Amino acid sequence: MLNKLSDSIYYLSNQDDRERPTLGLVCGDRYSLIIDSGNSPQHAKEFLLEIEKINVPPVKYVVITHAHWDHFLGLNEIDATIIVNSQTSKMLKEWQRLSYDDRSLQKYGSTNKLSAMCIKIIQTEISNREGFTLKSPDVIFENTLTVDLGNKVCILEKIKSTHTDDSTIVFVPDENVLFLGDSAYGTTTNDLFHYKQSLLLPMIKDIQKYNAEMFLLGHESICDSNEMNIYWEEVTVASQVVKSPSLEEAMVSFKAEYKRDPNDNEVFFIKAFVNDHILHSQ
Ligand SMILES: [Zn+2]
Repeated sequence: MLNKLSDSIYYLSNQDDRERPTLGLVCGDRYSLIIDSGNSPQHAKEFLLEIEKINVPPVKYVVITHAHWDHFLGLNEIDATIIVNSQTSKMLKEWQRLSYDDRSLQKYGSTNKLSAMCIKIIQTEISNREGFTLKSPDVIFENTLTVDLGNKVCILEKIKSTHTDDSTIVFVPDENVLFLGDSAYGTTTNDLFHYKQSLLLPMIKDIQKYNAEMFLLGHESICDSNEMNIYWEEVTVASQVVKSPSLEEAMVSFKAEYKRDPNDNEVFFIKAFVNDHILHSQ
């Protein structure tokens, strides 16, 4: 079922056990815009069926927040203008060249090109896989793009992000709502989960300039500004105490700086920043 955030904004909640991210819908007087197309044609179909049940203008645009499979593999189901930033466009080209038959999938699995979960979803939720080719984007932008849906503007911006180099966020000024995709999360490199430390403060600046009141996140659904501020605070204090690949040093520095033990979230972030140093020292 779609969640209604306002008269013009809806979203389908994320579903973690099936690696399904949050999907968004913004409606103007004339058109509607989808944010992320789902992790499979099946996911996209279910979203479109939910949209049919509500009385909204036709879907004219779909924005992909970044080129991670769970956010775009449903693209082919959506008959709309596909909008991405130029970096996402480059990364999607690789997916357009892939084959989706069992033999190819097995090969991608054994070389770690695709995760086991991704292969499972492809096998169970894409029909006619043998001939499947991912659609190409129609509109490619560099830094920002404004889309008018009819008395409802969406501002798309490619921001600096700790998650990927191709993160697009979508701001709806009328409602003060910001769709973040996965941009605020860390990332995994060589099996190590880490936050790109150098990008943290530039990213927070890019996001906070909108003064949004509500945030939609790829794998959390919805946060208000209070929850988001706590998140920024915890991740920032964690970052400030990590200056080397030593977890022990960071923990000592935290206690000296803040005169308390870090909470569970802060420990999680400290470890991720330490991992970032480990990766850079290799
Ligand atoms: Zn992602």
